[in-house]
Amino acid sequence: MTTLPVVPLTLGDGMPSRRASMPPVHLADLDLAGRRAIVAETGEQAFRAAQLSTHYFGRLERDPAAMTDIPAASRERLAGHLMPKLLTPVRELECDDGATRKSLWRLHDGALVESVLMGYPDRVTVCISSQAGCGMACPFCATGQAGLTRNLSTAEIVDQVVYLAGVAASGVMEGVPRRLSHVVFMGMGEPLANYSRVIAALRRLTSPAPEGLGLSQRHITVSTVGLVPAMKKLADEDLSVTLALSLHAPDDELRDELVPVNQRWKVAEVLDAAWAYSAKTGRRISIEYAMIRDVNDQPWRADLLGRLLAGRLAHVNLIPLNPTPGSRWDASPKPVEREFVRRLREAGVPTTVRDTRGREIDGACGQLAASEGEA
Ligand code: SAH
Repeated sequence: MTTLPVVPLTLGDGMPSRRASMPPVHLADLDLAGRRAIVAETGEQAFRAAQLSTHYFGRLERDPAAMTDIPAASRERLAGHLMPKLLTPVRELECDDGATRKSLWRLHDGALVESVLMGYPDRVTVCISSQAGCGMACPFCATGQAGLTRNLSTAEIVDQVVYLAGVAASGVMEGVPRRLSHVVFMGMGEPLANYSRVIAALRRLTSPAPEGLGLSQRHITVSTVGLVPAMKKLADEDLSVTLALSLHAPDDELRDELVPVNQRWKVAEVLDAAWAYSAKTGRRISIEYAMIRDVNDQPWRADLLGRLLAGRLAHVNLIPLNPTPGSRWDASPKPVEREFVRRLREAGVPTTVRDTRGREIDGACGQLAASEGEA
């Protein structure tokens, strides 16, 4: 087995910075007080901050021209300072009879990211990106192959949700609720490597309108490769979001290869950080495990995983591998997957197999690899 070099990490970094490639400030970057301060700087009345926020978060209105209860001149001035266009849709694809919709966006500097909207009879979930590309270099993941372009700003993260909440609200998806209820940070990027902006995005998504979107903390899932210091920090944020840990192997030898950051924080350490998170928040940890044929799907690995997780506040979510172009790896055969599930359950670990929504439009797990050439 080859051991890969330790990947360089860009961990959380205090206050958001505005580097050349970052977009202009948008109201979703700021809390209500911050929006009021900018409104005051423009010479407009302070109540306009709440008015704009109600349009954006309450009515999912992203187009300032449609905010006709604000006089045109003020509207233009406010939009110029607080509502720059962040996402330009490049392509929108659908499958599963319209219940899965993938959006490819171009950002202000030309970077491309994707989001996926998924409708179910009882819920609507959006899978969003936290970075353009990803620096974690997991060899089975399409996003990981291209490397990191840049962090997304808080508003670039939030705007994906607000845009797609608007799509859901328009009723284009039949037989599913119109209200977007769930958000998963399982698109492009490693959310905990863009820590401060992701935390601010979580606050915008969960604060009640007009400050934010008013989603339940429990309905938001942050998925991580296991950046231990950031996991510990997250536990202290007073945000009881669901934490998903992309484990993919129960032993260090294999995980060092599948999730290269394991060379820095080993299985035992990353699981300890996960249990500390569940102890602090009371939330069950979701252990993500892509089933890769003859790589991590052996019965002994199921048994080892079962021993690591038994008695913990955790469940396993097995993901049939979505093979990426040019990869030597494939999904495990169904009988192998069934045996893996059986052994985990026998060990007392709740286990489910994730559905494979969005495969035909490359919108399934690990397939998000936006490139213009794809179009
Ligand atoms: N960086 C974060 C979130 C993005 S990926 C993380 O790694 O958790 C969301 C999930 O999809 C992760 O569990 C990831 O390991 C998984 N994934 C990536 N590529 C995949 C593939 N080709 N097939 C199945 N799952 C994949």
